[in-house]
Amino acid sequence: MTNKGVLIVLSGPSGSGKDSLLQQVIANGGDIALSISLTTRQPREGEVDGMHYYFTTREQFEQKLASNAILEHTIYNGEYYGTPKDAVDAQLAAGKTVVLEIEVEGAANIAAQYPDCVRVFLVPPSLTVLRQRLIDRRTNTLEDIERRIAIAKQELTHAPGFDYIIRNCVLTDAAADFQAIIRAEMLRDKTILDEVMNL
Ligand code: 5GP
Repeated sequence: MTNKGVLIVLSGPSGSGKDSLLQQVIANGGDIALSISLTTRQPREGEVDGMHYYFTTREQFEQKLASNAILEHTIYNGEYYGTPKDAVDAQLAAGKTVVLEIEVEGAANIAAQYPDCVRVFLVPPSLTVLRQRLIDRRTNTLEDIERRIAIAKQELTHAPGFDYIIRNCVLTDAAADFQAIIRAEMLRDKTILDEVMNL
């Protein structure tokens, strides 16, 4: 029998390095299934529909909300973001480690629906470094950057409620920390004892 997969929620301010961390984990051979969110924000340069996000109109998003196809959603910086329900449940049922990369409100929403989920908060080395990362990204306007910094300060107040906190100073170390968390959470699985007793 396949055990139910582990659901990991990864939050952290925009620019804390969540995307890079997950790409590093995948490059390391980490066996994770990333949930692809829907959003109404415009794609940034290099972002691909169906890979980074499903980019949708407000009307399409609201239709999906009305048909309960969205597990949780939020409005961030004036745009809708939401997690598609079916994909997450199907991957968990198949025993996958599913990672949701979402902001803090969504994380709380998921924890209420999936009490066994594991919540990980990624922090930048400092707010100064965070601002510089957002500037270096060159895809956000200065106004957008200041808004994201203000949201980041607010988001950081929620970090103590998470199960784990990773400080992203060196990406490879942060990815190793994340993989250690997944490994440890998988070792909580008590169903393995049944197998031991029956062999
Ligand atoms: P960005 O515009 O930088 O891609 O994302 C902005 C914020 O929205 C990030 O903190 C990101 O983690 C969060 N986010 C992305 N997808 C979702 C989602 O489906 N649900 C929620 N609640 N937040 C999301």
